[in-house]
Amino acid sequence: MGTIFKHQGSAASVTTGCDDFQIRQHVHLQQRLGQALPLAPAFGREALWWCYQCQTAWHEHGRPGRSVHLSRDGGLPLQSALPVDGEPLSPLQEALCPACAVRYLGGIARMEEHPAGWGYRFTWERAGSPALFFCTLYTGPACLEADPLQALLMLPFDLPQAPTSSIRRVLQWLSELPDPAWDASLPLRSPHCHQLSTLYEPPAGLCWSGYAWPVQQKSWGPVLLLLGATLPKDASFSVALLLACWRQIAERMAYVL
Ligand SMILES: [Zn+2]
Repeated sequence: MGTIFKHQGSAASVTTGCDDFQIRQHVHLQQRLGQALPLAPAFGREALWWCYQCQTAWHEHGRPGRSVHLSRDGGLPLQSALPVDGEPLSPLQEALCPACAVRYLGGIARMEEHPAGWGYRFTWERAGSPALFFCTLYTGPACLEADPLQALLMLPFDLPQAPTSSIRRVLQWLSELPDPAWDASLPLRSPHCHQLSTLYEPPAGLCWSGYAWPVQQKSWGPVLLLLGATLPKDASFSVALLLACWRQIAERMAYVL
């Protein structure tokens, strides 16, 4: 199996080496996409994509729900605003638009990566009966923070540079992951759920819940896995049920790549 997670250095803290992550990531992404990719006011980056399904350009504007299709006329001023200064607009890269994702997959996927190839962050916004699902996989150096899960949730993340083949292999691994041993997982505590709410506001009436556990993967080494989902208040689910949901989500996400 090729390199999926790139380990660099042996930092003792998950925050070490992350200071310039988003600057470097920004430069690399600008070069690859030929766009300025400014940070969106609410979340994520602004970017222009071409939906291969409905054959329409669309404007990603941070959080799901804020993205819009561009008409041929209406898109031109926006396209001229987003390319890197002085550079002509490159052909738009393909990405399934949110409307097509909801129509064909039943939800909207986001895939991001953590610094230094330490892992990935996946989110899934279920349509129909709205709910959010969260997954982060971390393969970096051991975390010496007092609360490793909180440190994991605080890790920077950005649009991925990793090849789609690498992300697809991670999703395939997730879609086949067996249940953890009965005593291996820990439920997220209220500070973790609060942090998730700060990052991803739950739909009305729902709140975050989830589990984390370590997995030994023969090619990647130790993986710390954290899964979450939004549930009605006072509801609960087992780690097996949450992982079963994520196995299905991972399969659907792989279609997007
Ligand atoms: Zn579309």
